[in-house]
Amino acid sequence: MSDTSQPHSDSADAPAAERRRLRVAVIGAGPAGIYASDLLINNQDHDVQVDLFEKMPAPFGLIRYGVAPDHPRIKGIVKSLHRVLDKEGIRLIANVEIGKDITLDELQDYYDAVVISTGATKDRDFDLPGADAEGVHGAAEFVGFYDGNPLFERDWDLSAKNVAVIGVGNVGLDASRILAKSAEELHVTEIPDNVYEALKRNQAEKIHVFGRRGPAQTKFTPQELKELDHSENVHVIVDPEDIDYDEASETARANAKATDQVCQILEGYAMRDEDPSKRTLQIHLFESPVEVLTNDGKVVGLRTERTELDGTGQVRGTGTTTDWPVEAIYTAIGYRSDVLPGLPFDDQLGVIPNDGGHVLANAGGEAITGVYVTGWIKRGPIGLIGNTKSDAKQTTDMLFADVAKLSTPEHSDPDAILALLESRDVTVTTWDGWYRLDEAERAAGEAEGRERKKFVEWDEMVDAATAQ
Ligand code: NAP
Repeated sequence: MSDTSQPHSDSADAPAAERRRLRVAVIGAGPAGIYASDLLINNQDHDVQVDLFEKMPAPFGLIRYGVAPDHPRIKGIVKSLHRVLDKEGIRLIANVEIGKDITLDELQDYYDAVVISTGATKDRDFDLPGADAEGVHGAAEFVGFYDGNPLFERDWDLSAKNVAVIGVGNVGLDASRILAKSAEELHVTEIPDNVYEALKRNQAEKIHVFGRRGPAQTKFTPQELKELDHSENVHVIVDPEDIDYDEASETARANAKATDQVCQILEGYAMRDEDPSKRTLQIHLFESPVEVLTNDGKVVGLRTERTELDGTGQVRGTGTTTDWPVEAIYTAIGYRSDVLPGLPFDDQLGVIPNDGGHVLANAGGEAITGVYVTGWIKRGPIGLIGNTKSDAKQTTDMLFADVAKLSTPEHSDPDAILALLESRDVTVTTWDGWYRLDEAERAAGEAEGRERKKFVEWDEMVDAATAQ
């Protein structure tokens, strides 16, 4: 950041004409960044212009590259995000990677403040013996593949007949549902051709989903758990032995309707027999993974230890182990945020250290003036998309409270940043570009009687977005 910048005393009491426009860079055009941008430009006391930076050639982050293709209800959130990006006051500058095309330090020469909302796209480490064997996949990698993220694999080995998914949260549900559904069922969605072709080769017969605690401790949401059973080709079962509650579990059920609903749905699945005409998806509870069994570097099984509740909602091992013959294992044990070059990172929490909004030099340290965080990079990868709104409010309130302390940036001309990127041969894709890419993807889908077919190649996306 420039040392020549002067502090200014912009105040909400100053007449609008005397107030200078605040220029804020928001980094990451997913829900978190878009909600923050909306709050910034809608503020009654300050005149704010947002430049919304995005690494990918298209906006919408987690909605485009995290939400499963067969979840149109959640994908539908894109409509409200679209309305925000249509607003004057927000300029999308996509296909630009902070830390590569421009550093965070450089960016601060162009903006009064920077808000980081880069989310979490990686898998949390899974460090069991054997976890590096061929056939062990992070769910985030699989999501990147089936959601057509150009940064992820184009092909996927789906030859395993027996598959284990570790983790009883919604990502575990997404991964197991995509593994269990037929390629034809998924073809009506926006999946690209390479994903459809790989899914056609899917050999899965039985999918085992493992949770190390009990029904009341699963992280599923009721609607998603119920939807799991809506496919004609998938049969969801639970062993009745896996339904158990301790005092803490009963309290959790009494205190939270959603927890009780999840328990009831699991109890319903536990009353069924297997149906050999369908792919079986069995949710196992009280089974804690202890080892990946391998042969010649490849997965041949998963060993789990039976657990039991200890009264507090936690579990202890019973010493009884089971070996499950599986040829592939997906770990859905939580996401991990990406490190942003130029900023501190709390490895343990997987977040940029912050006090609820300001970025801190280190955990518990001094605030870095003018740099803020929101979304999963701020609080960790938990919570639904709607939770990001309150998060963005807390962050933007802190930013506005700091206005008098913010330094005036060296470059005030909004075109200066575009000139800098152009001088570095960076091809920027814009909001108008998204309209073009959107139209091209819809046209590709319509040709096959589908609503959309996603473009998966980076260049194809940029070409469509920049077409004249
Ligand atoms: P999550 O909800 O935190 O679930 C992670 C699961 O992994 C938990 O069951 C956890 O068990 C288990 N786990 C963690 N470490 C483990 C280990 N070493 N061995 C065995 N199990 C382990 O995370 P998520 O599924 O990644 O979801 C992230 C967020 O995105 C959540 O808020 C989720 O609701 C949201 N999401 C929503 C949707 C949707 O369709 N609405 C879809 C995807 C994601 P313990 O509880 O015992 O630690």
